[in-house]
Amino acid sequence: MTLSQGRPYLAIPGPSVMPDAVLAAMHRPAPNIYEGEIVELAAGLIPDLRAVARTKGHVAIYIGNGHAAWEAALANTVAPGDSVLVPATGRFGHGWADMAQGLGADVHMLDFGKSTPLDPAAVEAALRADGGHKIKAVLVTHVDTASSVLNDVAAVRAALDSAGHPALLMADCVASMAVDRFEMDGWGVDVAVAASQKGLMVPPGLGFVFFSDKAAQVRAAMPRVSRYWDWAPRAQPEQFYQYWGGTAPTHHLYGLRVALDMLHGEGIEAVWARHETLARTVWAACEAWGQGGGTLRLNVANPAHRARAVTALCLPQGGAGQLRKWCETQAGVTLGIGLGMAEPGSPAADDFFRIGHMGHVNAHMVLGMLGAVDAGLKALGLPHGSGAMAAATEVVAQATAVPPASSAAAAAAAAR
Ligand SMILES: *Cc1c(COP(=O)(O)O)cnc(C)c1O
Repeated sequence: MTLSQGRPYLAIPGPSVMPDAVLAAMHRPAPNIYEGEIVELAAGLIPDLRAVARTKGHVAIYIGNGHAAWEAALANTVAPGDSVLVPATGRFGHGWADMAQGLGADVHMLDFGKSTPLDPAAVEAALRADGGHKIKAVLVTHVDTASSVLNDVAAVRAALDSAGHPALLMADCVASMAVDRFEMDGWGVDVAVAASQKGLMVPPGLGFVFFSDKAAQVRAAMPRVSRYWDWAPRAQPEQFYQYWGGTAPTHHLYGLRVALDMLHGEGIEAVWARHETLARTVWAACEAWGQGGGTLRLNVANPAHRARAVTALCLPQGGAGQLRKWCETQAGVTLGIGLGMAEPGSPAADDFFRIGHMGHVNAHMVLGMLGAVDAGLKALGLPHGSGAMAAATEVVAQATAVPPASSAAAAAAAAR
């Protein structure tokens, strides 16, 4: 017997769960790409994307994934031989740095390990040490999806300002866009990158680069920018044909239209609040499992430093691998592998896993997933503390508690 039959749930940190409405919007014949509906639809996406990133700046859409958006951001701003500063807090920070290296940049790493956020004072010191202003950009990973560390992007803006350094502030928001609070203009971010398949709830295939006027000026002063990555024509919706550099990603645009309608229908503040509550629900269960002789451990100790999109965990002696397998084959829920925490293929790689809780997720999905993990720990005989489900439901109940006055009124109304 297996209890896995039924609708499967992919609880990995991207691709995230895709809403049926998004998939349904994509299930249609190809449109004419030169005139009509798709041209208007594409132009209409721009203000709604800006509203998600909280910017009045520009946005370029690429056919590509997050790696493409990484490269696009750099290709427009960093010439071979330019320097970039990369405060890394996990595998994705190193990945963006590697991309810069590949483009010929001189990369200065500040490695903050795999469980703690960047230290703005150390970033400021590195900027002050660059008296000649060789550093053109600081590449910050807002949420590092491998470690589940959340970084304070606004604090890096403050570090740049207090050092009086003109470098661009660039943020990787692939995991955090439409999940964790992100205020591009409010936080003084010059370039933000995102992709379709995480908080934006669309299949992988679109990369987004948001950029400020200051970043546009840096682009204008570049010796050259490759045609495909050049963001200048792409950021002008009226130049639709040039905009995509070829055929538009038609079906992804239909899906994105519906996803943006869903996000703005809920309200971006409410979207952030939902993710915050569901993340606290996950953490409450994980903390309970880690107590009373339990060996499960949250990778990031301080809740203020944890992402609301994903939670990285350690369950030693291969427990993580066993648990992931049990959850998938016995409960129909797939948890994420550990990434960048141990050598791939080494025995220690099976000690880490991640829970994705980004995008189209709600209380019953998260509580169901946690219930499956709870049952899996028991079925596998892995030592764990008790009370995880009670702790998790308590978070949901408190966040949604009906004030006593209205529950009394409701009870009175029901009694009548
Ligand atoms: C997923 C992710 C990426 C890479 O995106 P791909 O679409 O897989 O190329 C980059 N940065 C962060 C923070 C991510 O979560």
